[in-house]
Amino acid sequence: MLQPGRVIISQAELQGRIAELGTDLARDFAHERPIMVGVLQGAFLFMADLIRATPIELTTDFIGVASYAGSKSSGQVRIVSDLSVAIEGRHVVIVEDIVDTGLTLSYLKRTLEARRPRSLRVCVLVDKVERRKVDVPLDYVGFTIPNVFIVGYGFDYDGLYRNLPYVAALEGE
Ligand code: 5GP
Repeated sequence: MLQPGRVIISQAELQGRIAELGTDLARDFAHERPIMVGVLQGAFLFMADLIRATPIELTTDFIGVASYAGSKSSGQVRIVSDLSVAIEGRHVVIVEDIVDTGLTLSYLKRTLEARRPRSLRVCVLVDKVERRKVDVPLDYVGFTIPNVFIVGYGFDYDGLYRNLPYVAALEGE
């Protein structure tokens, strides 16, 4: 049975690093009133903590993406739940849980770039850099981890474990 095992990122490490990311974002977007775009579902916990650590005027929205069934590695991604507002002329920060192959994020960046935001940056909690297939520049990165499958703090296995307050490796038979 597969279940959460070794802690990869503790609750204290998460909160400490997210506080730093919020400070960086607040400095870079102080008078820009950015729109923070959380990528569902994985990023919702990170988004909630990140915006509370970013003491500037900002707005929020969410976008849901999914890989086409059976073709995850082909990079076929689609939007299953779109933004509720237009982003043309806005400063946009994509808030993503993890960058693995980079296919999801590169699709998302292309799609949002086509809507002509004033700027488009990416804030990602976890970077699995070893697994990258396409190069995607990341502006803000929380943690870089080796190639382990993680659960907790928004990351799921079969829909489970998102509610753990820390990030653990999925382990077992
Ligand atoms: P990509 O390969 O396109 O960069 O990442 C696609 C998606 O795979 C991520 O948004 C995330 O939902 C999922 N993913 C990648 N690595 C992990 C992991 O270690 N744990 C979990 N739960 N999901 C992952």
